[in-house]
Amino acid sequence: MQKWRVGDVTITRILEREGLGDISALMPPASSKDLLEISWLQPHFCDAAGQFRIAAQALVIATAAGRCIVVDTCWGNDKKCLPQLFQAQQANTPFLEDFAAAGFDRTRIDTVLCTHLHFDHVGWNTMLQDGKWVPTFPNARYLMARAEYQHWIDNDCDWVVFSESIAPVMEAGLVDLVETTAVICDEVRLVPTPGHTPNHVSVEISSRGEEALITGDFIHHPCQMARPEWWTVFDDSPDDAIARLSGCLSLRDRRGCDRAGRPAYGLKLSESADRGGMKQAITKVSASLNGVHDKT
Ligand SMILES: [Zn+2]
Repeated sequence: MQKWRVGDVTITRILEREGLGDISALMPPASSKDLLEISWLQPHFCDAAGQFRIAAQALVIATAAGRCIVVDTCWGNDKKCLPQLFQAQQANTPFLEDFAAAGFDRTRIDTVLCTHLHFDHVGWNTMLQDGKWVPTFPNARYLMARAEYQHWIDNDCDWVVFSESIAPVMEAGLVDLVETTAVICDEVRLVPTPGHTPNHVSVEISSRGEEALITGDFIHHPCQMARPEWWTVFDDSPDDAIARLSGCLSLRDRRGCDRAGRPAYGLKLSESADRGGMKQAITKVSASLNGVHDKT
């Protein structure tokens, strides 16, 4: 079980599924040869043949004050909403068993945060019980960016995703629509990171002088820390995504490389990254959501 500490905050990774793939199918500007040229990606993020490793995972945040927060809820089981590209990986997983084995009681989770509303970030918002979708975390507040929610309502919402993974928690009265800059608590705040979706948010954590960022799909894979210009086929606005990511990485450089993004699909990112000839000790990954619900 992978865990990180950011000051007084502990983050635990609950892995739902992972696999290897052709990077060009996700990021058209990239090739397996390009990946092999980024030497630090191996062995954790890329194999010797240049296939990239991709994972779906939830991050559970535990604070010293006893808060327990889940950031992004993966694909879920029994869903009918998977795009054709992912149908082959539709098999159910023991996510809930792994969640419990990690020491977490889903009934004691107090907050669920969705960085955005794509199917693979909201799946375990709900689970199928006696033929009905019910909240997986029945005592949690589910936080979604108001503008992101409204975007999907006003535009091409995938209504299967909505009906399976979003509507049931709305109907249960568990959703708080928040601003994309919401301050969650002293240690945690939301950061707008548009591009992948128009109102995507990342989650910034700072505690005892340490900082981290949970990036959702703002970063899909660690290779983008070396090549921020590699957009993905799922980005709503690739130019915005590239500009935002480049800015974030520059900010990290200025702060002495003590800050890094943990992609929703990334794995261990504690190695040194050689970008532009400069060794960057990436010491922390992940982040969290916690705290007060901003209902404005
Ligand atoms: Zn996404």
